[in-house]
Amino acid sequence: MDYEDIGQGPAVAGEVQEFVESEVLPVEREYLGSGPVPDAEIAALREEARERGLYAPQVPEEYGGLGLGFREMLPVFEEAGRSLLGPAALRCAAPDEGNMHTIELAGTEEQKDRWLPALARGEISSGFAMTEPSDGAGSDPKMLQTTAQKDGDEWVINGHKWWTTGGVDADVLLTFARTDHDAHPYEGCSVILVPADTPGVEVIRGIPHMGETLEGTEHAEIRFNDVRVPVENTLGEEDEGFTLVQQRLGPARLTHCMRFAGMADRALDIATAYLAERDGFGESMADKQGPRFDIADHRTSLHAVRTMVRHAAAQIDAGSEARIEVAMTKTYTANVVQDAIDSALQYCGGNGIGRDLPLANFYENVRQFRIIDGADEVHKRSIAREAFSEPKTEELEAITRYGEFWRDGSGSRQPTCRTRVEKERGAWAPEV
Ligand SMILES: Cc1cc2nc3c(=O)[nH]c(=O)nc-3n(C[C@H](O)[C@H](O)[C@H](O)COP(=O)(O)OP(=O)(O)OC[C@H]3O[C@@H](n4cnc5c(N)ncnc54)[C@H](O)[C@@H]3O)c2cc1C
Repeated sequence: MDYEDIGQGPAVAGEVQEFVESEVLPVEREYLGSGPVPDAEIAALREEARERGLYAPQVPEEYGGLGLGFREMLPVFEEAGRSLLGPAALRCAAPDEGNMHTIELAGTEEQKDRWLPALARGEISSGFAMTEPSDGAGSDPKMLQTTAQKDGDEWVINGHKWWTTGGVDADVLLTFARTDHDAHPYEGCSVILVPADTPGVEVIRGIPHMGETLEGTEHAEIRFNDVRVPVENTLGEEDEGFTLVQQRLGPARLTHCMRFAGMADRALDIATAYLAERDGFGESMADKQGPRFDIADHRTSLHAVRTMVRHAAAQIDAGSEARIEVAMTKTYTANVVQDAIDSALQYCGGNGIGRDLPLANFYENVRQFRIIDGADEVHKRSIAREAFSEPKTEELEAITRYGEFWRDGSGSRQPTCRTRVEKERGAWAPEV
């Protein structure tokens, strides 16, 4: 399928495809079922990516990346997503990818110099600490409980976070805290850069969960106990954290869509290869109409996903927040890729459940996507709010309502009351 991607995107994506096939997949196959992959293996893949000029496609050149624009990186991220290790090997995995982008977007020169080069080189890592256990911030971020109080030129942070991806090993935590305690719940919050070795930062545990990652990423529960950092560690404008988080999450949701689209594409490739090879009941499984139609439906939905991602990415690239487009794309993608991977696993039978193929890992991994970065329901809420914002009441002019009668004297259908709007204006009285 040709998506007419722009700039260096198609050329780099082609090279990444070759890199993933020849370098990344052999490591993935070696560790499926026995992972996590040792850090040294990831480091070796990164070195190979550097030598091929493919390392950190989204990171600006001054920090050692390729400096691709948002639309250019799109097909590259799709190719990287075909392997569970591809994004880590290319240094374009969540959450560092989104965190680097946020620091680049909102950081002061000092903050960028301190964190970005080392993050880009993969020498250090980061976490984004927003979600809190119940009854703190989750789907509803205005329930945020973590606070940062000013004491002279320091923030004193107290709170309890969890599901901070990469937080167990992170060197810096982008921490979301309430900084103006009198503001409206949707305002008065800030993102603060907290070095993870600051006294009072207590990593309680890596949360046990389904789908342990092949590259060993853990999701941390963290307490902040009177954690003191300079006020100058505020990332972006003080009290404007919600705006910054939105700016982070829009592109980050789409890059997740790109990587997962690659994963679903590979899952379907594996399933079609298996069906084509496997015989049963006197014919090839690939000749049975059920699987054929199913694969056709998943291919069609995945094409829709990739088209939607490109549309939303173009909007973001043009400077729009594209909130509704991103919400639609994220929710639709999460469901399409989940269904595609589920079918791919089904059609590989026992091989789908086993770990000689990556489908079991894909299946466990993809399930989170309907919850992270805003659960389906949260995005549908936004889409529905927009959809219901200006109902076209004039479309209902012709319907009959209780107590209204039709005149047909002239032969033309004329209701005594044309619209509910008219009724509300008091310009209507029922004929009786
Ligand atoms: C693997 C993984 C990685 C994560 N990484 C990070 C991270 O790096 N940083 C971070 O800060 N957080 C992270 N999270 C947390 C994630 O963002 C939250 O789990 C998510 O926002 C949902 O919040 P919650 O778990 O508190 O669910 P809740 O807010 O308790 O919601 C529970 C469920 O209620 C339903 N629901 C919610 N709102 C509505 C509504 N308006 N209408 C109808 N139904 C609704 C949904 O089905 C939702 O799943 C991660 C989570 C996972 C699982």
